[in-house]
Amino acid sequence: MVSARRSLKNLKAYKPGKPVEELKRELDLKEVYKLASNEIPFVPAYIFKAVLSQIPQINRYPEASSHYVRQKLARTLKVKPDRLVFGNGSDELIVMTLRAFVEERDEVIIGTPTFLIYEIQSQVAGARIKKVPLRDYRYDLETIARAITKKTKMIFIANPDNPHGTYVTHEEVVKFLNKVPKNVLVFFDEAYFEFVMNKDYPRTLALLKTRKNIIMSRTFSKAYGLAGVRIGYAVCDPEVAQCLNNVREPFNIDRFAQACASAALDNYRFVEKVKNHIVKEKRYLYRELAKLNLEYIESVTNFILINFKKDTARLNEYLLRKGIIVRPLAEWGLPEFFRVTVGLHKENEAFIRHLKGFLKNK
Ligand SMILES: *Cc1c(COP(=O)(O)O)cnc(C)c1O
Repeated sequence: MVSARRSLKNLKAYKPGKPVEELKRELDLKEVYKLASNEIPFVPAYIFKAVLSQIPQINRYPEASSHYVRQKLARTLKVKPDRLVFGNGSDELIVMTLRAFVEERDEVIIGTPTFLIYEIQSQVAGARIKKVPLRDYRYDLETIARAITKKTKMIFIANPDNPHGTYVTHEEVVKFLNKVPKNVLVFFDEAYFEFVMNKDYPRTLALLKTRKNIIMSRTFSKAYGLAGVRIGYAVCDPEVAQCLNNVREPFNIDRFAQACASAALDNYRFVEKVKNHIVKEKRYLYRELAKLNLEYIESVTNFILINFKKDTARLNEYLLRKGIIVRPLAEWGLPEFFRVTVGLHKENEAFIRHLKGFLKNK
C-alpha cells in the first residue's frame, strides 16, 4: 500500500459516542436514551421552516461567505463581519487553525485530559505536543504559561472544559495572556459558552479587541441544538481570519446549516429555555447522585463528570443493556470516571433509576 504521512503512524482516531440507532440494532431495544455526546434533548421548532426554505435551491452551491449568518452574528456579537470565520462545526475551525499556523515540529500545548480533537489534529499536523495536566479538574494556566518555549506556536484552552465542565476566570485568563508572547496563538474553545452563568467567566470578545494572537471559537451544536447540521464560528483579528479563510474549503457550510444558524440567531429565546431546563435538571441530578454517595464535579455546562472510584466498564455495559448511553472516559485516561449529558427529565430519571439498580445488584 502507498504509505500514509508519517504523522498518522500512531494516531488514535476519535471514537464518537455510540449512536442511538446502533444500540437499538445491537440489543434489539425499542427505546434508547443517548446521554453521551452533550447534545441538548430538544429540536428547535423554527428549524423546520429554515430547512424547507432551502430545498428549492438544493441544486445551487451555498454562499461561500455565509453572508446572512455573518451579518446577523456580527450584529449580535457587536464585532466587524471580517472578524468572523465559519467552520463545518467548530471542530473544523481547530483543523483550519492548525493548517494555517502550525508547521511540522512546531510545539502545541494542550491540557490533559481534555477535548480529544486538539491532540488528534495536532498530531495529524505533525506538531510536537506538550501536555500540561489539569489541576483540581481545572485548566492550570500558570503551569501552561511556564511551559511555553521558543518552539511553542499554539495553545488550546477549552473553556469550559470537556469532560470536566469547569472553567477558568476572566482574571486568570488576563494574567495568563500577559505572559504569552505575541507570536504564540491561543485558541479558546467556548463550545459551552451559552450555558455559563458565572459573572467571572472571561469576556473573551473584549480581550480579542487588543490582541491579535487569540482565536475564540463557539458553536451552534450545543445550546442552539444544531449538532446535526454542522456550523461553528471563530472570532479573531481580521488578518488572522484571512489566514483561516485561505485554508478554508469554499463551500464548507452548506445552505441548510447557514439557514438554520441564521434562524437560530433570530430565536435566542430557545437558548434561554434550554438553559433553564439544564439548570433545573442539573440540580435534580446532583441531588440524586449525592444520595447515591457518588462524587461529581460541579459543572457550568450541560454535562456532568462523575467519579465512580472504580472501573466503569461493567456499569457502562449494564446501562447499555437498559438502553442508556453515557460516555465512559477510559480513552481520556479516566477509567474510573464517566460523563453524563443532561437529557429530558424522564431520561435523567431513567439514568438515575438504572444507576441505582446497578449499585444495588453488584
Ligand atoms: C462539542 C464540542 C465542540 C463542538 O463541536 P462542533 O464541531 O462545533 O459540533 C468543540 N469543543 C468542545 C470542547 C466540545 O465539547
